[in-house]
Amino acid sequence: MINDKVSKALNEQIALEFNSAYLYLAMAAAFEDQNLPGFAHWMKAQSQEEVGHGMRLFGYLVDRGGRVVLEAIDKPQADFGSPVDIFTQSLDHERKVTASIHKLYELAGTQKDYATQTQLHWFIDEQVEEEKTAEEILDQLKAVGERPHLLLMLDRKLAERGS
Ligand code: FE
Repeated sequence: MINDKVSKALNEQIALEFNSAYLYLAMAAAFEDQNLPGFAHWMKAQSQEEVGHGMRLFGYLVDRGGRVVLEAIDKPQADFGSPVDIFTQSLDHERKVTASIHKLYELAGTQKDYATQTQLHWFIDEQVEEEKTAEEILDQLKAVGERPHLLLMLDRKLAERGS
């Protein structure tokens, strides 16, 4: 049986993952509005991935005999600015998620909940990837600058994302 503190923190992390999903869906909508379907596709896939993270924690908490209690999801903003602005915010958000996972990992340690720590190893690795990917796309967007043909090339590349 999982302890209350860890259980509460896992529920908060589930909420953060679903908040991430909703934020990236709003960013997908912003890219659709800017006629960048490849970027929109990439953000929709990212949103789905976040749902997967939330569901992974949902399943884990149930497996440990915990109670999943869903929290409210924040309303995302409608305007995010330019593609560079959007990916800057996306990277900032991922850094926030990384900090949250690390805090949860520390809590699991102080509570001697080694199973939760093991479960979180996957998330710690995943955050390295998430930050790296967001940084790479942001760097590419900065290199694109004000050249529309390069932006369209990047849009086509991001349209190729699988899942
Ligand atoms: Fe996530």
